[in-house]
Amino acid sequence: MTITAQMLHEAFKVAAPDAQAKDWPLISDQSKEQYERMATYLNDQSEETNCSEREYVSEVLRTCVATDFHERLLLGALGLAGEAGEVVDILKKSRFQGHALEPARIKDELGDVLWYLALLCHTLGLTFEEVRAENVAKMHRRYPDGFEVERSVNR
Ligand SMILES: [Mg+2]
Repeated sequence: MTITAQMLHEAFKVAAPDAQAKDWPLISDQSKEQYERMATYLNDQSEETNCSEREYVSEVLRTCVATDFHERLLLGALGLAGEAGEVVDILKKSRFQGHALEPARIKDELGDVLWYLALLCHTLGLTFEEVRAENVAKMHRRYPDGFEVERSVNR
């Protein structure tokens, strides 16, 4: 089954009735584009060539040196910050030190970010899917018609 942008919006309305989301024809083009990107992502996930979240977490655990809850939490948080810093460093060197901006290098570091994010999620008993869904719900509560400076400043 192919997931559509409208299906995701309807699911959001069911999952977060307090957000009082508008009906599909009334939401902004920007919101529709966001749903389109989510639908594309989810549909891509179902292709056989992609690694499922379960497979990915198994691979993370296979290569993780920390074994107990607190060690994994600490490793995840430190690693996430460190790898995010590596992404920042690539951008800094590109902007200020004359290095070429190489998307493949950023992709590699984003993979490292993902490894630590997966470790943190697994350690806390969370899935990427529920983290994403809760984040989408938060964005819709905060910015029902797309980003607005006023809502950002006065929240
Ligand atoms: Mg790295």
